[in-house]
Amino acid sequence: MNCFVPAENSLGETRTALTPVSAAGLVKLGLTLNVQAGLGHLSNYPDAAYTEAGATLVTDAAAAQASADLVMRVRKPTPADIAGMKRGAWHLSFLDPFNERELIAAFANGGVNAVSLEMIPRTTLAQKMDALSSQASLAGYAAVIEAAQRLQMALPMMMTPAGTIMPARVFVIGAGVAGLQAIATAKRLGARVDAFDTRPVVEEQVRSLGAKFVKIDLGETGQTAGGYAKALTPEQVAKQQAGMAKVIAQSDIVITTAKLFGRKAPTLVTKAMLAGMKPGSVVVDLAVEGGGNVEGARSGADIVTENGVTIICHPCLEGTVAHHATQVLAANYAAWITHFWDEKEKVFRADLNDEILKGCLITHDGAIVHPQFVSKA
Ligand code: NAD
Repeated sequence: MNCFVPAENSLGETRTALTPVSAAGLVKLGLTLNVQAGLGHLSNYPDAAYTEAGATLVTDAAAAQASADLVMRVRKPTPADIAGMKRGAWHLSFLDPFNERELIAAFANGGVNAVSLEMIPRTTLAQKMDALSSQASLAGYAAVIEAAQRLQMALPMMMTPAGTIMPARVFVIGAGVAGLQAIATAKRLGARVDAFDTRPVVEEQVRSLGAKFVKIDLGETGQTAGGYAKALTPEQVAKQQAGMAKVIAQSDIVITTAKLFGRKAPTLVTKAMLAGMKPGSVVVDLAVEGGGNVEGARSGADIVTENGVTIICHPCLEGTVAHHATQVLAANYAAWITHFWDEKEKVFRADLNDEILKGCLITHDGAIVHPQFVSKA
């Protein structure tokens, strides 16, 4: 199998789909690897390390893409990228399939088999290829680090001869993969941490990290069969906002991570709540790319409110720790390929009845095959 990994051309993307370590593993499996020169430049993986691992550096990306059986990249391709691939080839990347109907149609029309990393089932068997989790963990960590750098306060309690500095207060809204990592990071830095999630099963995990779970009675909330939060009713959202307002006003850092899989993120921190925060406080909206949890937040540069609250709206905080984000992401790609690799014959064998493939394969053999997108392109 001839695999090509192009350099990312999306503005601001610092990660890649391959490290020298994952390249060595894939070459050992029996893949032929072509890597665009400069691939790991922004994540500190030098070209020479890829060639040492057995990959070939290429400068003509279009030619390498045209002859590849598999293309791996982090961000979704352009329509021109898809048109430049051969029919029957595979494409593995984040795709944002719920918002990319035209792109899905382009994959089907071009006969390219598109796999969406977001759609890999969150099962135990697929844990090694769970790119949402690997990236969310680092985003949660980076959210605390970025917020701490903007905050003109120390996070831990300090007892000095000149008086006692009280620990900073951090409130984490949404305690999934990113939220739990944010809680753990803030606790390690000595902050006092509160957290809330609509899935009651999370309460124990929050407590075990040493944080306080904020109790808000929303009635029936529940979760989907896939373990994701269900959307709240407008009444429940209003109750949640009222329940959180006091904690938000007392917090020095608020980190929001509340996403709804395949749907717009709920607005949880209103302008009135921001106005009630202390000057110098910092809010990080980790859901900003999916619509945002903070009213007025837009993916991009920081916003400073009239009362001096900084809202960090970075669309990809895991990209600020690109070396490690790439390390674990590349391991996710390699695990996906390995799962479908026939060790004996040294060939890629996609079993269309495999539960993991059924979950993440969007187009195959010139048609849209994923039931959630069949009628939507
Ligand atoms: P996510 O990114 O979709 O959402 C982040 C968190 O926000 C979730 O905990 C969600 O409950 C919460 N949330 C949604 N609406 C909210 C609101 N109004 N207020 C407060 N919080 C709100 O979730 P995720 O981190 O990707 O995890 C989703 C689920 O998948 C979790 O149950 C997680 O444990 C599970 N998971 C399982 C595996 C596995 O078994 N291999 C791997 C990873 C995640």
